[in-house]
Amino acid sequence: MFNKFDTIRPYTKGETCRTFPVYYPPQHQDIQPGMEYLMKPLPVFDDSNYKGSGKLKDKVAIITGGDSGIGRAVAVFFAKEGAKLVLVYYNEERDANDTKDYIERLGGEVLLIHGDLKNKDFSSFIVNETVNCYGKIDILVNNAGVQYFADNLTDISNEQFDYTMKSNIYSMFYLTKAVLPYLKSGSSIINTTSITTYNGEGDLIDYVTSKGAIVGFTRALATNLAPKNIRVNAVAPGPFWTALQPASRKAKDIPTFGSTGPMKRAGQPYEIAAIYVYLASNDSSYTTGQVIHVNGGEYKG
Ligand code: NAD
Ligand code: MG
Repeated sequence: MFNKFDTIRPYTKGETCRTFPVYYPPQHQDIQPGMEYLMKPLPVFDDSNYKGSGKLKDKVAIITGGDSGIGRAVAVFFAKEGAKLVLVYYNEERDANDTKDYIERLGGEVLLIHGDLKNKDFSSFIVNETVNCYGKIDILVNNAGVQYFADNLTDISNEQFDYTMKSNIYSMFYLTKAVLPYLKSGSSIINTTSITTYNGEGDLIDYVTSKGAIVGFTRALATNLAPKNIRVNAVAPGPFWTALQPASRKAKDIPTFGSTGPMKRAGQPYEIAAIYVYLASNDSSYTTGQVIHVNGGEYKG
């Protein structure tokens, strides 16, 4: 089920990613978060060529949105590097259990926790469950998020603005605050922002604003925590084939999703996961306050 070559049309002779983007049939999901298991084709979240080398051995990592998409791929790569995982998600039971099963088959350890990160009390619950289960926290990946398109500022209701901010940045503030007392020298915080903030995309004003706040949060917190040798960085994905897309875009816009960048295709989640490994591990011991862009060349950071 999870063999990456099963999920996409095989390339024929002479075709490359550059000349042959994966075709995404029109599809739409009415509810966010979207369900990865309903997507056609399924996103590719693992790379059999990626072999771990113990970079995160016995580290405990909390990954929000770890059930699906980018978070799932990060979870798989972290597990290959020896990390023990806490995957936080909203309500996507099937996606979360599929991720857990896959990682357990690799020999990894996973604790699943579902709930609403907009609720500040949920953060203390996550921290308590993590510490009860594994005894410590070393890495926090703040990756959960939602996006809603709107043509005009006047089409964004006050409730939607509030919802996007609560989901994307308040959640990060609440959870980071709850986790921080447990972090030590060498710990790493990684926040998922977005290329849309750098491109200033006009039909995602509330989302772009929330992702801009994440950049500010990352930079200020990095400065603040540097004396403790706790590093804080962000990753800014370009277009990636995840459940966020069919759950937020019109069905007719899906076939061309990601096709306008220099590489003329969307990324697959496994193509961003190693950056999170780098930022989580000691390989990036002198890297803090940075935003790493992974977008097929669409934005040059
Ligand atoms: P995804 O839908 O697979 O993951 C988002 C996750 O956020 C969901 O799995 C969901 O469980 C979680 N979530 C949302 N609201 C929540 C809440 N209130 N409480 C708990 N969990 C909640 O999609 P993805 O694309 O992998 O998204 C991961 C991150 O990447 C998001 O922050 C998104 O904004 C960002 N991003 C994605 C793209 C892209 O093209 N896919 C581009 C730029 C940035
Ligand atoms: Mg999900």
